[in-house]
Formats: sequence, C-alpha cells, structure tokens
Amino acid sequence: MEQPTSSEPRPILQLVGVRKTFNGFAAVDRIDLDVREGEFLTIVGPSGSGKTTLLRMLAGMESPSEGNITLRGELINEIPSNKRPTCLVFQSLALFPHKTVGENIAFPLKVKGVDPATRKARALDLMKVVRLPADYHDKNVMKCSGGERQRVALARALAYDPEVLFFDEPLSAIDYKLKKTLEKELKDLHRETGKTFIYITHSLEEAMVMSDRIGVMRSGRLVQVGTPEEIYGAPVDRFVSEFVGEVNTIKVKRNGADLWAGIDVPGSFKLRPPQQGTVGDEAFVVVRPEYMRFVGAGENADNTLKGTVYNEYSLGSRIQYQVRVGDKVMLVELSRARALPPGSNADVTVGWDAADAFTLAS
Ligand code: ATP
Repeated sequence: MEQPTSSEPRPILQLVGVRKTFNGFAAVDRIDLDVREGEFLTIVGPSGSGKTTLLRMLAGMESPSEGNITLRGELINEIPSNKRPTCLVFQSLALFPHKTVGENIAFPLKVKGVDPATRKARALDLMKVVRLPADYHDKNVMKCSGGERQRVALARALAYDPEVLFFDEPLSAIDYKLKKTLEKELKDLHRETGKTFIYITHSLEEAMVMSDRIGVMRSGRLVQVGTPEEIYGAPVDRFVSEFVGEVNTIKVKRNGADLWAGIDVPGSFKLRPPQQGTVGDEAFVVVRPEYMRFVGAGENADNTLKGTVYNEYSLGSRIQYQVRVGDKVMLVELSRARALPPGSNADVTVGWDAADAFTLAS
C-alpha cells in the first residue's frame, strides 16, 4: 500500500479494493483511494457511475460487499453512520421545518445533552462561520431562502464537529448565481475549518472551483484522481478528457521518430515529447478549444490546419468558433479581444503549439 511521505498529510480515510454489488451488478468496483486529512476531494462522474453508492459506504449507510474502508487505520466497514465521526449534508437538507434556525443548528448538541445557554452560544458562533446574521437565530427555518437553508444545514453539520464532512450534491437545486456564491463560501469554509470534505457532484465546474483533488468515476471504477489541473491538462483517457471539457481530437499515426501523420485530417503534426513507441503506432492528439487559435499571415504555430468557419457562439466573455476541417469540426475558443473581426473571410488557418496538446492512446 502507498505510504505517505513526510510532506504529504496522512490519509484519514483509506479504501482498499472496495466493491459494492446489487444482485451481482457492481455499482462500485474495486476502488483504492487514500483521502488526505484536511483535503477537499470531489467525486465526479456521469449519472449511474456509482458516486452515491461510494459516498453511502463512506458515510456508513451501506457496507461494502468486498474490500476495506478504514478511518485513521480503524476498520469501519460495518460501523453505522451514527457511530462514525462523520456527517453527511444532503441535497434535500433534512432540516426540521417547525424549528427555528438556532434549534436546527443546535440539534446535535441537544442530543449530546449540552445545556441551552451553551447551545445558543455555539449556534451563534456557527451562524457567524456560515455567514448567517445573528437575528436569524429565532427565525423559523421555513421562512429562510434556499441559500440560507443551505447555510443552516452546513452549520448543523459543523455542530456535530465531525472529522469528515460528506456532501451529496448539496447545490444541485440552487439557481446559478447563488450556486456560484455558495461554491466560494464552501471553499472558504473548508479552509477555515480545516476539516476533510468529500463532495459528490455531476457538475465538473463545481468540482473545478472547490476541490484540492478530483476523482472521476466511470461504471463503478475510479478512473483518475488528481488536482483539477491534472484532470483537465493530463487526463488518463478519452473518457476523462471529454468528461472534463470540450476537446478537439485528431487521430494520428507515427511515421517516424517525431513524425505523426493525420488519419482523419490531412497533414503531419508535432507532438509534445517524449513519445514512446514505434512506427505504425496510432494515437489521439487532444487540444482544448482555448488552446487553439487562428493563425494569420506571418504568424506561426507548431501545427496548423486549413478550414472554414461556419458557426460562432457567444460564451459571454469568450467566443467559440466551429471550424470545418475536411469532415471534422474543430472548436476554437477566443477571448472577445482576440475574436475575428466581423465580416472576416470564413477561410481560416487554425493552429496550436505542441506543448498545449496532449496525446492519448488509441
Ligand atoms: P446519479 O448521479 O444519477 O445519482 P450515481 O453516480 O450516484 O448516479 P449510483 O446511484 O451510485 O450512481 O448508482 C450506480 C449504479 O448502481 C446504478 O446503475 C444504480 O442503478 C445501481 N444501484 C444503486 N443503488 C442500488 C440499489 N440499492 N439496488 C440496485 N441497484 C442500485
């Protein structure tokens, strides 16, 4: 098993060969993962990839069919959620509708038998942490907005003082603007509390904004775990590369040591070295649209293709062009400042530098 180096925080949770089957179907399949103490780890993946099942096992609501989950070295496979030093924040929040904000937040303390004065003081402290005004303490929770209720649920989760907080798509039902605010607040909260956060979401954008590391799931397997930059800039396969953003993919064949010929577009291409393998090997060159540009007369790029612009879309501050190159459509995304002048000739040369592309096995 991977041993932490002295500079790496030690794992708080470890999963070894974790599998969960339902009637023989593996919803989660042989997952090995070290969760570092104090990190913000987000699990992303398409619908049905096993995120919820994985989270339910971590939170103690399901036990694995195979493999081990340890918390600080102690096996917790069969320990129920209420006996674990962890807490789950749901999308549905599960607040008590007839209670006040303060009562909701202090509920875990009441269960522990903490006296009312201490409960109130702690609830007010936690309200400060999640940026709820103190005069909300006596407000009925149902009179709060969606975003405020989110904060109440978070404060209540913190009142349990858990070692690990799990989040099951808590922002999925919230409008875009508030979601953006809450993402940043959650990230701040993570930093301020220093606790380990494990978050699941469909939304890669959410994952990119908040996480220290992202784990990508597909068909029950954890296919890649890495920083947002690693997942985006060095995906392990085409599934991850396409899941985490738009891509231009060109199929190429090695003709010589450093010579790659296009299979689905004409031309020869320079790839980022080092490239292992032999003549005849096939690979995919992948370039994100924001690393593509239009190459004008007198300008250079390591790789170029001639094409025709046939569509452009506004992405707000950026513009995306669809450029037809033979039978393929290439995407070029530019800031408005670098956009083609209106009325430009639709015939263009698109280009990119070898260092800005990555290569994946075919
Ligand atoms: P979503 O994003 O849609 O919530 P998910 O990635 O969280 O999906 P899971 O809910 O973990 O995926 O489901 C993974 C697979 O396991 C799915 O095919 C699902 O139908 C199946 N599954 C999950 N729970 C059960 C269960 N209790 N019984 C049978 N099959 C289940």
